[in-house]
Amino acid sequence: MTAAAVAVPWPGCVPGSRREAAGIVDAACVRSWLGVVATRLEAERDFLTQLDAAIGDADHGVNMHRGFTAVMVRIGESEDATPGQLLKTAGRTFVSTVGGAAGPLYGTAFLQAGEALGDAASFGPRLLLDALRASLEGVQRVGAAAVGDKTMVDALSPALGAFELELRMGGAREAAAEGMRATIPLQARKGRASYLGPRSVGHQDPGATSTALMFAALEQAVLADRSQRFAAGTRRRGSGT
Ligand code: ADP
Ligand code: MG
Repeated sequence: MTAAAVAVPWPGCVPGSRREAAGIVDAACVRSWLGVVATRLEAERDFLTQLDAAIGDADHGVNMHRGFTAVMVRIGESEDATPGQLLKTAGRTFVSTVGGAAGPLYGTAFLQAGEALGDAASFGPRLLLDALRASLEGVQRVGAAAVGDKTMVDALSPALGAFELELRMGGAREAAAEGMRATIPLQARKGRASYLGPRSVGHQDPGATSTALMFAALEQAVLADRSQRFAAGTRRRGSGT
């Protein structure tokens, strides 16, 4: 097993998050989530590329970083966007700026999540669950990967399952990271890594790793947003659905 195969680059982000339940998320929080993802992707670009060098073509970190840099520019231009519009913009930007497998797959995931949120100005755990379901459905419609095929689905699907059970971002983040680690002993059945056959065993999947990163960022953004609101002593109005 290589060093890259066992590395887990980011810790759980906030102490006490085990007890947290997902709260209300608005456009500002979605922006800050995308911003945290962009920052983390920049920090992990080389790590993701190194993972992809072992079982692919060494471009996943570069692809994701390029995509999210473009996403941050585009959402910076749309000041009054709702959460759904922000995610749809992110999805369209991803499709148009990122090639390979990750572009259309993540692009579809963001687009479908944005569709699921509709025009809501804010959303709670139930609507977030709908958005995550729509993302997974979109990824599987485009890529036809099942759990165990050693792809991003191995992180996304358990994260969705954990969130469904408890509606906790911390639970989703842990399940995504566990799914990411569980790709190491798998043989790839989808994507470029599948060309390697048994030689893909013993390596962590790059796409499952970037998906786990996104769940860690989501937890960080939601909790930071909540503690800011408590610190300000205010309660934002929201649908809470
Ligand atoms: P490419 O493989 O075209 O170079 P990337 O390197 O950016 O694209 O992304 C590779 C990641 O995409 C893989 O690690 C895997 O998680 C994901 N992936 C590849 N094919 C599929 C698929 N059919 N369904 C879901 N995810 C996939
Ligand atoms: Mg690649």
